[in-house]
Amino acid sequence: MNAPNSLRNLPDEHGHFGQFGGRYVAETLMPLILDLEREYRAAKVDPAFKTQFDGLMKHYVGRPSPLYFAERLTQHYREGAAAGRGAKIYFKREELNHTGAHKINNCIGQILLAIRMGKTRIIAETGAGQHGVATATVAARFGLPCTIFMGAKDIERQQPNVFRMKLLGAEVRPVTSGSQSLKDAMNEALRDWVATVHDTFYIIGTAAGPHPYPELVRDFQSVIGTESRAQMLEAEGRLPDLLLAAVGGGSNAIGLFHPFLDDPDVAMIGVEAAGRGIDSGEHAASLTGGAPGILHGNKTYLLQDEDGQITEAHSISAGLDYPGIGPEHSWLHESGRVEYVPITDQQALDAFQLCCKLEGIIPALESSHALAALETKAREMNADQIILVNVSGRGDKDIYTVAQAMGAEI
Ligand SMILES: *Cc1c(COP(=O)(O)O)cnc(C)c1O
Repeated sequence: MNAPNSLRNLPDEHGHFGQFGGRYVAETLMPLILDLEREYRAAKVDPAFKTQFDGLMKHYVGRPSPLYFAERLTQHYREGAAAGRGAKIYFKREELNHTGAHKINNCIGQILLAIRMGKTRIIAETGAGQHGVATATVAARFGLPCTIFMGAKDIERQQPNVFRMKLLGAEVRPVTSGSQSLKDAMNEALRDWVATVHDTFYIIGTAAGPHPYPELVRDFQSVIGTESRAQMLEAEGRLPDLLLAAVGGGSNAIGLFHPFLDDPDVAMIGVEAAGRGIDSGEHAASLTGGAPGILHGNKTYLLQDEDGQITEAHSISAGLDYPGIGPEHSWLHESGRVEYVPITDQQALDAFQLCCKLEGIIPALESSHALAALETKAREMNADQIILVNVSGRGDKDIYTVAQAMGAEI
């Protein structure tokens, strides 16, 4: 247990982070949610569960992921900065994980819970297909049948990931209600779950959903921050001054931030997708451009119109295209512990290309949003300060989008 005034003690027993979080679900789901919570509490203190999780992280996922000094990017920003400015930049290399992003950390944790609970079928929602692929991967690894709910429009846009899921043995079920995208897929998965709770486990892809999901997803992803902390102490003998991470639902960001929340000298910035600009209305910045409401079983900031209807999110990066944000981020935003800034499609594209050219690393467009924040932050901080950026995924999946934006033919 942390100290009583620790920022790491939430959620409370009802799943609240201040006014956010909770569990706004159909009555039929309550027994299962309570069951899941009970099982998670037991798993959390069971050394056998930790041994199993750690073993898979090491041998299947390839952890620990490296902490890497981005020397040329550091030099680049120093050249354009005032004398004595230009922070030292490190990357946490989550893009080197099996399946190419951080999402697998969470999927491994949840499927181990499913097996512990005796569940024999897996369901999940996906937008871009990244969480669908990570879920189909672990379902294959553990031999469980798996159904992925995906908006019909997203299926059209994300053919390579749809085919990956099928290769991995998953059934991809098109969702034709609403806007036929991520929020509808999530609603449909919840609906399926109500009818199949006796044998089915729902693997949620980000630190959102009804309690205890935001907590357990955060805990599984906290391997990112816990490793980073130890690696940074080894490399520099001290903690970083600033953490940067992109925020879709917020799982890679909270996974990096959470182990540092009680370190007052470590600043944190979550980067939201500003799409074509906040004023254009075409963005995915729930904190900057949204307001509190209820979505997918929890209270949080989300994009909505005057009638409280959820509006569609836009980002060039499909993985940030979610109209809500995990409830812990809403709380960290209102309490001021973490700052949240918007980055546009164009800024992310520029950062993507810069990282390719200077570091020989093709970052995901999601991660490129975090990298784009370096443009001001690295230059204004002192040369003896340290920034740690979470490179949440690799960008091979994004080359068609980037080519189109650059007007290139491939
Ligand atoms: C899905 C995804 C994200 C956004 O999801 P979070 O839950 O906010 O982490 C970020 N980066 C990559 C590479 C992703 O695949």
